[in-house]
Amino acid sequence: MKILVSGGAGFIGSHLVESLVEVGHEVTVVDNFLTGRPENIAHLVRADRCRLIEQDVTRLVKLPDGPPDVVFHLASPASPEDYTRYPIETMLVNSVGTYNLLELARAAGARFVLASTSEVYGDPEVHPQPETYWGHVNPVGPRAAYDEGKRFAEALTVTYHRKYGLDVRIARIFNTYGPRNRVDDGRVVPNFIRQALRNEPLTVYGDGSQTRSFCYVSDLVGGLLKVGFGDGLAGEVFNLGNDDERPVVEVARLVKTLTGTPAPIVFLPPRPEEISRRRPDLTKTRRILGWSPTVGLEEGLRRTIAWYQQEITAGRLAT
Ligand code: NAD
Ligand code: UDP
Repeated sequence: MKILVSGGAGFIGSHLVESLVEVGHEVTVVDNFLTGRPENIAHLVRADRCRLIEQDVTRLVKLPDGPPDVVFHLASPASPEDYTRYPIETMLVNSVGTYNLLELARAAGARFVLASTSEVYGDPEVHPQPETYWGHVNPVGPRAAYDEGKRFAEALTVTYHRKYGLDVRIARIFNTYGPRNRVDDGRVVPNFIRQALRNEPLTVYGDGSQTRSFCYVSDLVGGLLKVGFGDGLAGEVFNLGNDDERPVVEVARLVKTLTGTPAPIVFLPPRPEEISRRRPDLTKTRRILGWSPTVGLEEGLRRTIAWYQQEITAGRLAT
């Protein structure tokens, strides 16, 4: 099939593209490298296994190879530091960018898969979070550009399904980590690993009792493929993530143990409007997609640490 992946030069996007070309799909990536890196898919482009178009999806996207069968829309800054640095870009890619790609999908009669986020649940009052939960979001808070951007993207996506009958699917992705997660994007796993490998203090914001549920990237991509290629899923929303919930301080301790760093854990002031807890309710995802994460946190962190070490040794990462 012909597949368009927006944001395919990013962390999750590049793994998705790799999996798609692996099974023989014809993949075109559209990315403006705002938070991604051409190096993430350079091996595929060089080998002529995917086409890369450097473009902002808030401008109209024209595909030289004709209309796609499926559009995966992943373009958007995703880490809190990135979307705080690029708040307008974040709102525009999730609104105008989503609109452009939905129009492209409509003209092509293509399926449309939106990479949404657990952030649509905000600081949740329901725990764990099922897809039926509407969320608890501050529309003028520090995370608003991302949260409300994604909520708009979801609303627009489902509107195209209702109004035009477009085959759309929404994946609400929970915290994901692994190789190619930019070392400087400010998210907790790359931060702790970078700090540990430099023997610098591991910075926990607040008292570290806030929780997240971390999914290894290969698992996540497996779930995205199920969402994208399953039959009879038009208009459906799925949580994708790992439901093994951990306090952030426990992740710091794990990274310390796995790297063997003597560096201490230090406690810094909490982020404003910190999300206190987050865990996907995977009941619907397991029942309908038959998908479950398989890589445990310890194993995933081991693989991720090994990747960062390998990149440093090869001189590809300045820590
Ligand atoms: P990332 O920043 O590594 O990737 C995003 C990609 O989109 C980058 O390559 C970036 O250059 C590109 N991009 C941004 N704006 C663009 C624009 N206007 N035009 C074209 N390309 C643009 O982030 P990621 O972690 O890989 O996230 C991918 C998607 O998954 C995002 O939509 C994100 O919201 C969603 N998601 C990720 C996580 C996670 O834990 N990683 C969690 C929830 C949701
Ligand atoms: N965090 C932390 N130290 C860091 C980076 C993040 O304690 O160096 C915490 C952050 O406050 C949050 C959690 O780790 O509670 C996850 O943060 P991240 O930015 O990875 O993603 P979020 O889930 O907040 O979008």
